[in-house]
Amino acid sequence: MGTLKERREIRLNGQTMARGRHGVARIPVLTDLDGCEIELVIHAVVGARPGPVLALHTGLHGSEWQAVEISRRIVESLDPAEMSGAVLALPVANPIALASRTRNLRDESDSPDLNRSFGGEQTWIADQLGRAIVSELYANADAVIDFHSGLWGAAMGSVTCGRDFSDASVSERGYRMARAFGLPHIRRSDFVTKFPGPKSSVGHAGQVLGIPGIISEIGGVGFDPTLEEEWAMTTVRGVRGVMQELGILAGAPPVADRILVFDTVRRVNPSNGGFIEPIFPAADLMSREVRPDELLGRVWSPYTFEVTEELRSPVRGLVDMVPREYPARPGDWAYLVVDLDSPGNRSLGPNDLP
Ligand SMILES: [Zn+2]
Repeated sequence: MGTLKERREIRLNGQTMARGRHGVARIPVLTDLDGCEIELVIHAVVGARPGPVLALHTGLHGSEWQAVEISRRIVESLDPAEMSGAVLALPVANPIALASRTRNLRDESDSPDLNRSFGGEQTWIADQLGRAIVSELYANADAVIDFHSGLWGAAMGSVTCGRDFSDASVSERGYRMARAFGLPHIRRSDFVTKFPGPKSSVGHAGQVLGIPGIISEIGGVGFDPTLEEEWAMTTVRGVRGVMQELGILAGAPPVADRILVFDTVRRVNPSNGGFIEPIFPAADLMSREVRPDELLGRVWSPYTFEVTEELRSPVRGLVDMVPREYPARPGDWAYLVVDLDSPGNRSLGPNDLP
């Protein structure tokens, strides 16, 4: 990745972070009405040698707190002595939304969703948090990984990169990062020309700042602990693969022999509220192919106990999101199914580019 600069130093909140150490920087952002000072806390694991900088953030959505634990595992797995360059990790990108354990900020603003507010110019909380992430984290970064997950009780199974950045090299570098995660499938979609466009974190980083990035959405909480541990390990290994791709860690990333690059995912969510009874097992996430019309789950009324809806796969596909049994409101997340017959799909070898 020849375009990466070898950075001499990393500055956070005006302070230079020491080489060969794990430092923590606190970035003051704003004071809320209740008098609370809102700050961002960034972990800087700075390698013994100079090199590229990978920025990670988790918890842009406050209800997707499972990824904060992933952030902790990644930071604790790093040894600065083995690193050329640095990892900057922001575990709680949206402290106010985490406190209410809601996806969005519960203010009366035009931009309650931080991951739809990058580039915002107002003084709404999300706009200010987004600006602080850009001016502190992205200002130091050569690449970005943004982590999401389902709500408690939903699990997801893939990484995503963008294909429509104005600078095609940003799309290519994003694909190389996604490939280095080591999974046999990659979602490749439109980060600029489709909703939410460059107002998302990775969309803004790529389109406005020219910094490549990927979204990691693997695993969830509320499932079999063994399965949850596998998902966490997959993610930590994947991030280390991206660090190898960037040259922060030595060695070649564990690229899969055959990679399905897919572009279309169909939502299969309830139209009415009810309890979801899962039928497709969480352990088969992104591994077992489902038939068109295959029954994935049912929705039943918590009042009458009757089944009110069947959730069926609209396509031949791989299931990219599964719920455990939980109560859902209309439109809430249940299943995502990768359309295996989309004409935009590609089957690539380990050295191919889409
Ligand atoms: Zn999210």
